[in-house]
Amino acid sequence: MVSTRTPGSPAEGNPHAGQPFSDDDAAIAAALEDVSVPALLCSLVHLTGDPSWIRSGLRPVLSMLNDYQCGMTPEAKAEARRNALPAIAAFRDGGCVLPPPPSNELVHEMMSFLAAAPVPTDVVPMFLEDLHLDGSDGGAVTWGAEIAPDARAAAHVVVIGCGEAGLLAGIRLRQAGIPFTVVEKNAGPGGTWWDNRYPGARVDIGSHFYCYSFEPADHWTEYFSQHTELRAYFDRVMRKYGVDEHCRFRTEVTAANFDDATGRWSVHLRNDDGSTEVLDARAVISAVGALNQPNLPVLEGAESFAGPSFHSARWDHSVDYRGKNLALIGAGASGFQIAPTVADEVATLTVFQRTAQWVFPNANYHRQVPDGDRWAMRHLPFYGRWFRFLTFYPGAGLTIENSRIDPDFDDSDGLAINERNLMTRGIFSQWMVDQLGDREDLVAKVIPNYPVTAKRMLQDNGSWLAGLRKPNVELVRTEIERIVEDGIVTTDGTFYPADIICYATGFRHNDYLWPMEITGRQGVVLRDQWGHEPTAYLGITIPNFPNLFCLYGPGTNLAHGGSLIFQSECQMSYVMDALHELFAHGHQTLEPKPEVHDAYSDRYQSEIAQMVWAHWSVTHSHYKNPDGRIFTLSPWPIPQYWSWTKAVDPDDYVFT
Ligand code: NAP
Repeated sequence: MVSTRTPGSPAEGNPHAGQPFSDDDAAIAAALEDVSVPALLCSLVHLTGDPSWIRSGLRPVLSMLNDYQCGMTPEAKAEARRNALPAIAAFRDGGCVLPPPPSNELVHEMMSFLAAAPVPTDVVPMFLEDLHLDGSDGGAVTWGAEIAPDARAAAHVVVIGCGEAGLLAGIRLRQAGIPFTVVEKNAGPGGTWWDNRYPGARVDIGSHFYCYSFEPADHWTEYFSQHTELRAYFDRVMRKYGVDEHCRFRTEVTAANFDDATGRWSVHLRNDDGSTEVLDARAVISAVGALNQPNLPVLEGAESFAGPSFHSARWDHSVDYRGKNLALIGAGASGFQIAPTVADEVATLTVFQRTAQWVFPNANYHRQVPDGDRWAMRHLPFYGRWFRFLTFYPGAGLTIENSRIDPDFDDSDGLAINERNLMTRGIFSQWMVDQLGDREDLVAKVIPNYPVTAKRMLQDNGSWLAGLRKPNVELVRTEIERIVEDGIVTTDGTFYPADIICYATGFRHNDYLWPMEITGRQGVVLRDQWGHEPTAYLGITIPNFPNLFCLYGPGTNLAHGGSLIFQSECQMSYVMDALHELFAHGHQTLEPKPEVHDAYSDRYQSEIAQMVWAHWSVTHSHYKNPDGRIFTLSPWPIPQYWSWTKAVDPDDYVFT
């Protein structure tokens, strides 16, 4: 397997094999100071063909999310760097020629080396696919003559949305030679990263994993990129793969109707100028996201507020907040990024937080990728791939059992769901207390009274609590009673002056595909079928809605690891297999058998109800529906979902 570069050939053809370099020893030594030493040691195995790099005492101590050095001591790292320099110099002097690639067994050993523990054999194929060590895109679609050109030509697919998932759908459909249109209401690609431009908006999955697996990732300037860089990334990828030619921006899908007679969809569009239009489609892929439609709370007097007010995902950049009194309502993942970013620029910042949030430490959260690490990603063979593995593995959901409620654990105080969860509460609470020093008033406000991980976890390098400590910042945990012309009044009668209000109040997570009107077979309306309980087989296909596929659909949001881009790659691989099944066998439509869908939904409910996110102590959570049940999150280990979405089982479907 593994390398398209034959021994003795130059570094060509494999985008992950590293670009040849001629830097002098001093420059290389300087770069090595910036790298992840564990990933470097794996790269050296490729570069020298010698597995002893990962068989010495210089090895990772533990695999922990966002610790790129895996607990190695400074001495061990220094020695590894010293050893690496002559090997890299020799590689350079030899013309950057790679030896034969490592065997699959050795690659597995490298995974276990970075994981600091044996990686179970059954999950190796998933990581192997994600690593793309052979330089090919394993998910690339290569349909053959089994699908006649006229069948492809008649197979127009409409993709709704051009965020990361819609863009991926475009890439795969183009590879398959299927005519398609991506309809996007925004003026450009990026989805959530197009919408969310608030100060401080950045991703909180490591950027080297929060990107397409098949694309090199040596360009990121921060370990956790900000919205501008993410937008630029999606724009670049869109153009590179020629998806832009198929995109209709500033166009909104308002409805989609399935026609029983023709077996095709009519997709209703509203253009930017208000005109309407209907597209005919053989299949529809919804890639509209799940955290997309702002949730604006109903607060008494909101309309009486005299100053500007806006939702965090609709940040009004024409409003100059500097020197003003800013009221921030909501402090989940968005508000918690906004507060520390604007704190020094506003006169006062009042943060109204209904529920305290768990935050865990991440020293790399605001860190630039140093030049040396970027050099290594660009030049050291497969270093970037192993860095990706390092980012993926600890968050691969292999520890999902930690999220399960222990029925024998006394959770009557609502503070923890099992012993480990209780221990984690202690660690995270102490970390917060340590940052707050003498501010006991804040300690009482910021430590949540529900189990760790039960709501969306936040991570930070200390910016959030440092922001709250500032003299012009106040954290208010008392409920809002009403909004008045010049501020906000809480239920204890306190008035907080405000010139501007930002509603960082989240999204309508449970209202999948809203506000589109989707009508399926025999006039079934999707919203009626779902009510408050949206379900889809594997989160992708829905009975009564033939040839409709959801990306990031019900039950697929991730709270236990992975990345939504990885999740989309799984789902798109499944969707393409479903389309192949349709076209290759001359079927008109497919939809999941009701019994298959129902059995999956039952299994889903029984599983999710045992997990921390469903815990009774969590009263406010966008994961829960109005009845307190969960239809949003995936309870499945990530490798399991990966294997379920590898291929469609025709027995699960009704074909016409
Ligand atoms: P969120 O996590 O749902 O937080 C909304 C905030 O508004 C919470 O503090 C919530 O309080 C409060 N709120 C909602 N309705 C309210 C009401 N009626 N009265 C008072 N307070 C109210 O929303 P978000 O911060 O926009 O994040 C949503 C999701 O987007 C995240 O879970 C995450 O998946 C994603 N996101 C990711 C990133 C990132 O990757 N860095 C950044 C931003 C968002 P309660 O907690 O009491 O409900």
